[in-house]
Amino acid sequence: MADVVIAGGGLAGLFNALLLNRAGLQVTVVEKKAYPFHRVCGEYLSNEILPFLDTLGIDVFNLGASRIDRLEVTATSGARLTQKLDLGGFGISRYKLDNYLYELCLKEGVKFLLNTQVDDIVFANNAFTVTTRDCVLETPLVIGAFGKRSNLDNKLNRAFFHQRSPYVGIKMHARLNFPDDVIQLNSFKNGYCGVSKIEDDRYCICSLAHRNDLRRQGSLDALQENVINKNPYQKEIFDQAEWLMDKPEVINEISFRKKLPVEQHILMSGDTAGMIAPLCGNGMTMAIHSAKILSKIILQYYRPARPFPFEQRLALEQAYRNTWNVQFARRLWVGRQLQKMFGNNQMMHWAVQTFNRLPRVTNWLVQQTHGKAWE
Ligand SMILES: Cc1cc2nc3c(=O)[nH]c(=O)nc-3n(C[C@H](O)[C@H](O)[C@H](O)COP(=O)(O)OP(=O)(O)OC[C@H]3O[C@@H](n4cnc5c(N)ncnc54)[C@H](O)[C@@H]3O)c2cc1C
Repeated sequence: MADVVIAGGGLAGLFNALLLNRAGLQVTVVEKKAYPFHRVCGEYLSNEILPFLDTLGIDVFNLGASRIDRLEVTATSGARLTQKLDLGGFGISRYKLDNYLYELCLKEGVKFLLNTQVDDIVFANNAFTVTTRDCVLETPLVIGAFGKRSNLDNKLNRAFFHQRSPYVGIKMHARLNFPDDVIQLNSFKNGYCGVSKIEDDRYCICSLAHRNDLRRQGSLDALQENVINKNPYQKEIFDQAEWLMDKPEVINEISFRKKLPVEQHILMSGDTAGMIAPLCGNGMTMAIHSAKILSKIILQYYRPARPFPFEQRLALEQAYRNTWNVQFARRLWVGRQLQKMFGNNQMMHWAVQTFNRLPRVTNWLVQQTHGKAWE
């Protein structure tokens, strides 16, 4: 009998679990994989999160995170923009970070069902039934933290699921001769690749490409050779990379379309509520921030071991909807506009040349996709 069942144990799920459990709620996380595991992600986090992590006693630099404070954006023409990042960020693999958070949650009493997919979530009579292959959980509250695209989006008939999206994500780790403190975004036709340092002398190389280009090329190797390598900076990276994973992590159908933060009374968190274009490098921080906001609102409206009146539930949902929109709706919109610009070779050449001469404007643009440091 959990107060809250969380479907999905990525950053949003794990931070909701940590915060609610610390506040005394019984929390069960259902995650379809088992930690540690790799995910498609650029693995760069904005420093806006550091004060909050500090309040939780989490020190990412103890885990080996790399400090990053310069941004480079390059175009296939060879043009390059360099910008000092005001707030800066750090790099750490999801393999390491998510596993650390899982172990922390476990130690503090969060219950986990691993290697377990949630097949269905049904709300009736002011309570939820969460169905997995092996068991059925009854709970007053469900947090949907199942990421950008899941079987549950289909099951819940969410609008964005039925609109196809052309983006494919590909992630690899490698050893490289590359500066420690730079995040480089290398644009190519219909996509871009991010390169930055994580822990243990490793670099994360993560691309977003177009499905049609992959189809036309027939394989990831051919896509790399004939499309991505048209960017000379990215070619240099691939030519010298000493690969550290047996094969790349790949996902399809990455969608940046609007979603809703509450659907069928399920409180959505992280990418499940809305995903920012990866080039903004802020999806992880937003997932954690949304968990912080949601758990705070849950704690305002819900009391364990007492009946949870339906009107109180509706008030909780409305409070979360409002706060989520104030915090994130504009950032997601800016991210969608920037996403449209990347991948057009001529426009990128022009943008890189122009913004390189306008560091204040570039800085302002970066700020539009990020929040201020928060606790
Ligand atoms: C190509 C690419 C590059 C990116 N680069 C960056 C970056 O550099 N910096 C940054 O901040 N953000 C980046 N992002 C975004 C970032 O990865 C996400 O915003 C972040 O992972 C969201 O966390 P989450 O917890 O919402 O979802 P996730 O981390 O995706 O977690 C969702 C979890 O739910 C589980 N799940 C799904 N369905 C079910 C089910 N039915 N039952 C049980 N479990 C289920 C999954 O296994 C997964 O563990 C990138 C994204 C992409 C695609």
